[in-house]
Amino acid sequence: MKIEFILTKEAIMTNAKRFSMVGFGILLFLFIFLPAANAQSGDAYKVGTSSLVVRSAPASNSEIIGQLSQGQTVIVFKEQHGWAMTYYAGKEAWVASQFLVADSQQSTDSGETVHKPSNDYIAVAADGVNLRTGPGTNHQVIGSALHGDTYKLTGTKGDWHRIVLGDGTTAWIAAWLTSPTNVHQTTRQTKATNTSQSNGTQTKRASLAGYNIVLDAGHGGKDPGALGLDGLREKDLTLSTANRVRDVLQSEGATVVATRSGDEFLSLDKRVQISNSYKTDAFISLHFNAYPTMTVRGVSTHYYSNGGNDMALAQSIQTALMQHVNMPNRGIHQSDYHVLRTNSDLAVLVELGFITNQYDAGNIQTNQYQTDVANAIADGLKTYFN
Ligand SMILES: [Zn+2]
Repeated sequence: MKIEFILTKEAIMTNAKRFSMVGFGILLFLFIFLPAANAQSGDAYKVGTSSLVVRSAPASNSEIIGQLSQGQTVIVFKEQHGWAMTYYAGKEAWVASQFLVADSQQSTDSGETVHKPSNDYIAVAADGVNLRTGPGTNHQVIGSALHGDTYKLTGTKGDWHRIVLGDGTTAWIAAWLTSPTNVHQTTRQTKATNTSQSNGTQTKRASLAGYNIVLDAGHGGKDPGALGLDGLREKDLTLSTANRVRDVLQSEGATVVATRSGDEFLSLDKRVQISNSYKTDAFISLHFNAYPTMTVRGVSTHYYSNGGNDMALAQSIQTALMQHVNMPNRGIHQSDYHVLRTNSDLAVLVELGFITNQYDAGNIQTNQYQTDVANAIADGLKTYFN
């Protein structure tokens, strides 16, 4: 379908001579890559060799991150140059597509297919992954799974797996947050909802136990974010700050999921998808600002839903930030940011200073500042939740 699109676009835009060259290029492309090019996103394949190495990138010299055995199901999301992209342990992963065989049990009508693997199991790759009534984040959440939980796989639709719960009923789980496994352990059905810490209101008030927080370090990989003084890159500051926030939130008992933990590129949609895939209590995106006028400085917090809980959380975090850091208060704002607007969870975005301002730039790189921010976010969450 991609190929048809390219052909049409090129045909409209170019003259006949160029068209013929493009056409030849496409034919050459088809000739070389056709077997790899017709996989639809979410197609199920079986491993057709006794052992198949899983790698971090589509190259034979890339890092090995796992191994699959014969007959295991692999959901392929895209293919390029002989490599098939899937997810393994919650991360993008690649296998050599020549070792994949079409899943014969998959019916052939239009991607709406549910195949029935006979004895496949999946292991959940993160804590608090939502179990839903259908294959998509628009379906109702009926429970959540913990890291290492295994479930029998009974079908796949798009990038969602249908699994069997402990009571024999079925639920759907995001395939990219699971890995194939041969080991079947006892299945825990669901995780209790925030009630596990019931011993004493005093400790409950002081901690974030039972809360799932998704931390989103803005930008990353090919997207450096804002560029500032002294070669500062927003993507580096967001990551080091997010790591500090994670440590503090975890020490307060929260379960923290990071949208990225290294210098990697993630689309905005993927960040929201991660948030929507968990039983997320709050999504917090971390950013630093830039402005042509170098005197502009300070800290602000942003929300999207008007007048709702998001605004209250934004206010709570902004107030705590002002208590912890020595920076000008730029207030809270309703802002049309993609990661806020499309997020179905409680979501805020903090702008933690201007990397284009001399004072802010000096401040925000320090461990002290990042620790203060982490404590402030923890305080803001505690105030909001309690
Ligand atoms: Zn940013």
